[in-house]
Amino acid sequence: MKRILFVFLDGVGIGGPSSHNAFETLDLPGWSALAGNQKWTSPGFKPISEPNRIVRQIDATLGIEGLPQSGTGQSSLFTGVNCATLAGRHYGPYPHSSARSVLRTQNMFVQCKELPGLLPPAFLNAFPKRFFEAAKKRDRWSTTTRCCLDAEIPLKTLHDLENGRAVAADLDGKGLSLVAGAPVTTIDIDTVSQRMASLCHKQSLSLFEYFLTDKAGHSDNPVEVKNVLGKLDELFTGLLKHLDFNQTTLVVTSDHGNIEDLSTKSHTLNPVPLIALGSLAPYFKDITDLTGVTPAIISALKSTPAS
Ligand SMILES: [Zn+2]
Repeated sequence: MKRILFVFLDGVGIGGPSSHNAFETLDLPGWSALAGNQKWTSPGFKPISEPNRIVRQIDATLGIEGLPQSGTGQSSLFTGVNCATLAGRHYGPYPHSSARSVLRTQNMFVQCKELPGLLPPAFLNAFPKRFFEAAKKRDRWSTTTRCCLDAEIPLKTLHDLENGRAVAADLDGKGLSLVAGAPVTTIDIDTVSQRMASLCHKQSLSLFEYFLTDKAGHSDNPVEVKNVLGKLDELFTGLLKHLDFNQTTLVVTSDHGNIEDLSTKSHTLNPVPLIALGSLAPYFKDITDLTGVTPAIISALKSTPAS
């Protein structure tokens, strides 16, 4: 059975090579290696179609005017339905009410669970108790956690994190330990990538969400931007080393641009990257916008015999 590890990055677009673009100014060998030794700036970030590697720039505006937002972008990404059209606008950061029934019935975890013979999917992020309390109180869940609730996928806890069954949202756990209200053991990022590579063997589809790219983009703080891009650089370097790409296909994409343009604290209209590395990569070759990702994941998983 083949597997997919989906690393979702919030707020990463492909922008021009200006001095406001950290992908132009920083040395990021891990990011570059992921994209077939290309810089993550246009026009250098070219499409690649190889048997084990697909690289694309895909549209995040979804045919709707205005700046893309996380609620509608992520709902579209994780269902395959254009939720910006459903809402009549870009909306975020939480899912728009018009997307609720689509998320409930068509999110990628629900669709994956319906495929016969596959191990149930998992969301690898660990959530502190105070996250559950705050989300429950206001019934306000992020798109990914809403997908888990709708698919009855358990959200991982700090207990799972301590026992090596989950990953900290900030990778090494340093930031999480400041906000969790409970002790978190910090680990180096190469160990995080090894853990991800091993955890994704336990299910057909594993998702990891990294939201600090969007947060850093909104901060407009070059030090924060350098820190998050550097951490992800280490993660990608580690994943390229530790993943078995015959068995696991790594998919990386985003919901909208932001961090690639430090001249604005807002999201951008830039296209977002789509990278698929591994034997299921060809299923991702025809994707042109966010709505193509979930159907490609499901088609790819359908093609792999159960074992
Ligand atoms: Zn944002």
